[in-house]
Amino acid sequence: MSNLSLAYIFYNHKLLVDDNFQLPKVEKLASDLIFSSGDQVIARDLLDDEAIPEGYQLIPIRQLIAQWTRAQFEQASRAVQLLEWRRNHKFCSHCGHETEVHSTEYAMVCPACGYRQYPRVQPCVITVITKGTDEILLAKNARNKGNMYGLIAGFVEVGETLEEAVARETLEEVGINVKNIQYLSSQPWPFPSNLMLAFKAEYESGEIKLQEEEISDAQFFKFDQLPETPFAGSIAHAMIEHVIHNKKMP
Ligand SMILES: [Zn+2]
Repeated sequence: MSNLSLAYIFYNHKLLVDDNFQLPKVEKLASDLIFSSGDQVIARDLLDDEAIPEGYQLIPIRQLIAQWTRAQFEQASRAVQLLEWRRNHKFCSHCGHETEVHSTEYAMVCPACGYRQYPRVQPCVITVITKGTDEILLAKNARNKGNMYGLIAGFVEVGETLEEAVARETLEEVGINVKNIQYLSSQPWPFPSNLMLAFKAEYESGEIKLQEEEISDAQFFKFDQLPETPFAGSIAHAMIEHVIHNKKMP
């Protein structure tokens, strides 16, 4: 059955997998998005009226972080982002003409004016801030109904360095100044198309003052008295483990 392709089939950020979280194998269609790594892996959207095959279910891709390896999750993340990009670029943003899928590159090409649209990622900084040798800043997002405390994060603005974004977001969201900003690691995060850039920094000055539309609470917590924190598989989890237990960043 070598003519079958392994398929990432999405429906509203949910992915079709079997009971063991394995992908289905399907016959390739002309409209499928093909991964450049070979033609045996494709991605497509499940149609509104298409039935879910027996033995399969739709799982939110966030949940697959815990089930899959990092490499598997990253490929799924790439698939969902490329599909979304293709869906959102059916017309030329320069002249308005209908676009065509480039035959070999990930590009949507305008046959009228030649303009090419490529997939974009949104750089987003996330920062773990420590104070002294045993305190960490954790903040509760105002939109989060639960009790989970996370890290300070935000989009990089036009014309800004990553370090400037870290300092600005921290000052805006919790009113403090940080020093010794250092890059740790990165993670593609397909919600919807972010590249999370992880930094660590140390508290320098200022009192915590919340930006209330964004943050409902923020405190320096002792390492041994943490509240509920982000789940394993997220970069925030790895960052907290890194500063508290000196674990290596993935
Ligand atoms: Zn055009």
